[in-house]
Amino acid sequence: MDQLCNCEDFFQIKIEADVGADPLWCAVCGYNLEMDKFTLSNPLKEQLRAWIDDYGSWINWDYDSLIEGGKIIEKDHNELGLRLTEKVKKELKGKYEVVFSPSKMY
Ligand SMILES: [Zn+2]
Repeated sequence: MDQLCNCEDFFQIKIEADVGADPLWCAVCGYNLEMDKFTLSNPLKEQLRAWIDDYGSWINWDYDSLIEGGKIIEKDHNELGLRLTEKVKKELKGKYEVVFSPSKMY
């Protein structure tokens, strides 16, 4: 198998949202992984992309501050992230460990 990151033994995926990055990371070395290298279904990949696009909607980027009511938006975002993580877990079952890292701006 192709080496996916800097680790010799890649086994643990971390799901975390960040601006302009795929949501899959190596949990050990922190390398951003290409989602297309995994056997994920297209609907799930689309859901993950939409989830990433929504990341930071509780932030006013112009002022680098948090918008009013943003705490709830971030919480919803994390809940959806957790649900998507469960789906990734199911699709990659037996291949990788999958963990979720929630956004903690608040
Ligand atoms: Zn790694």
